[in-house]
Amino acid sequence: MQATASRTDNKTIAAATVRALAEDFAGPIIQPDDPGYEEARQVWNGMIDRYPALIVQPETTADVVAAVNLARERNLLLSVRGGGHHVAGHGTNDGGLVIDLSRMSEVDVDPDRRLARVQGGATWAEVDRATQAHGLATPGGVVSDTGIAGLTLGGGIGWLRNKYGLSSDNLVKAEVVTAAGKQIQASSKQNRDLFWALRGGGGNFGVVTAFTYRLHPVAQRQMFAFVFHHGRHAAAGLRFFRDYMAAAPDEVSALAFLGIVPPEEEIFPKAVRGERFIAFAAMYVGALEQGRRVLKPLRDFSQPLIDFSQPMPYIDIQQVLDEDYPAQELRYYWKSLNLHHLDDQAIEQLVSQAEQQVSPFSTTDIWPMGGAVSRFPEEESAFVGRQARFLLGVEANWEDPATDDANIAWVRDVVAAMEPFSDGSQYLNFPGFHEEGQQMMKATFRHKYKRLAAVKRKYDPTNLFRLNHNIEPAE
Ligand code: FAD
Repeated sequence: MQATASRTDNKTIAAATVRALAEDFAGPIIQPDDPGYEEARQVWNGMIDRYPALIVQPETTADVVAAVNLARERNLLLSVRGGGHHVAGHGTNDGGLVIDLSRMSEVDVDPDRRLARVQGGATWAEVDRATQAHGLATPGGVVSDTGIAGLTLGGGIGWLRNKYGLSSDNLVKAEVVTAAGKQIQASSKQNRDLFWALRGGGGNFGVVTAFTYRLHPVAQRQMFAFVFHHGRHAAAGLRFFRDYMAAAPDEVSALAFLGIVPPEEEIFPKAVRGERFIAFAAMYVGALEQGRRVLKPLRDFSQPLIDFSQPMPYIDIQQVLDEDYPAQELRYYWKSLNLHHLDDQAIEQLVSQAEQQVSPFSTTDIWPMGGAVSRFPEEESAFVGRQARFLLGVEANWEDPATDDANIAWVRDVVAAMEPFSDGSQYLNFPGFHEEGQQMMKATFRHKYKRLAAVKRKYDPTNLFRLNHNIEPAE
C-alpha cells in the first residue's frame, strides 16, 4: 500500500492563503496572473508545459520552511526546482506549488579547508566560476547550466569522475528542510541515514537548501580531446574506445557518442554535414603535455572528420556542450542503462540501433565508469551503478512535436535491445518520464530500496516530496 497523502489538484490557491504566506516571505511569490508567471513556470525540456497554481522563489531558508509548511498543511502538489533540468520536468507541475530555488545560488569557497558551501538553486557554472578562482573544483556535470541539486542528489557524472568520483561522493554536508518543516543537517556525523540516502536517492527526503562539497586542485587549463570520426567506423571505434578506457589512467574521464553531424551546424565543414559520426570527448586532469600524449590515441584512431581537441580553460570545457541543449527550444526524452560489459556483440547491436535515430540532434552516448567511482564503497551511499563498466545514455533531442512518438519509441527500442547486456538498472538522472514507476526504482535500487523506503518514512512519511524518482515510504 502506498502511504501517499491524497492531494487536491489545486488550480487556484485562496487569496487569503497567499496573503498569509506573503507576510514574512522575503522572495517573490508568483501567481498565474502575474507578469513573471509565464517565464517562471517553464523548465528546460520543451515537451513540458505545466501550469502551477503558485510559484515561490525563496531567498532564505525561512522562506523554504514557510513554503514546505504551506504545501503540507494545504495538501498541495509540490515541486522542488533546482536548475529545472530534469528531463521529466519534475521542477514544475499542474495546479500545485513550485518551490523554485533559483534565487538561492550563493557559493562560498573556503580554499584552506578545500570546501565549498553552495546553495540549492545554483548551477554548475556558478560553482565552477567560484572554485576555479582558487584553482580548485569539485566534480559536476558536463553542461554548465544544469542545477547542482538534482544532479548531485541523483549521483552526478562528469569530466572529473574517474579521478575524484561522483558529485555526490564529494558531498560533505547537506542542509535540509524536511517535510515537517524542520531544518536539519546530514553528514557522516549527523543524520547519517539521511546522508546515505541523499547521495543517489534523489529529492525524496526534503529540500536541500545548501550542499557542502569537497574541492580538489584543478589547474585553470586542462587538455580536452573532442574529435569526430566517420560513422562508418562506429563499431571499430567503440571497440577501440572500450579497450583504450580499460587501460586509461584515472586522470581520463571520457564519453563516446554516435550521431549525425547537424546539417546546418556551421562549425563543421560543409562536406561532413549530415554524415554519421562517432565522437570521443575526454578530459585529462593534470599536466597539459602528459594529457596531450595520453589522449592522442583518441584523435589518431582514424583520419578525423574534424578535431576540436586542444588545451582549454577548465571552465570552458565545462561549457563545451551547453549550446547543444537549449532550454525550451528542443523537445527531449532521455533514458539510460548500466552496461556490465560491452563485448563485440553488444557493440554491433548498439551501432545498428543507434542508426535508427529519428532526429539529427539525437545521440547515443557511452560513458565509461570506473576509477574513483568504482572504488567508492558500495554501501556508503544509495547510488547504484558503480560496478557497471559503462553507462548507456540514449538522448532523443528534436524540434517537431509531430515526431514525439517516433523519437520516444526510438529511445525505448535502443534501451530494450541493450537490456541483455545489463542488469536492468538505470541512471536515474536520465530516466525518461519515469513511466515504469516503482518497477524501475526497484530494478535499479534492488537491496537498497528497502533501506531508502525506511529513510523516506522517517523524513517524509506522507510522500510530500513525490515529484522525483520516487521512493514510497515503508509501511
Ligand atoms: P530540477 O528539474 O530542478 O530537479 C530535478 C529533481 O531534483 C526533481 O525531482 C527535484 O524535485 C529535485 N530537486 C531539485 N532541487 C532540489 C533541492 N534543492 N532539494 C531537493 N530536491 C531537489 N547528469 C549528470 O550526472 N551528468 C551530466 O553531465 C548531466 N548532463 C546533463 C545535461 C543536460 C542538458 C541535462 C538537461 C541534464 C543533464 N544531467 C546530467 C542530468 C541531470 O543530473 C538531471 O537532469 C538533474 O535532475 C538536473 O537537476 P536540476 O536541479 O537542474 O533539475
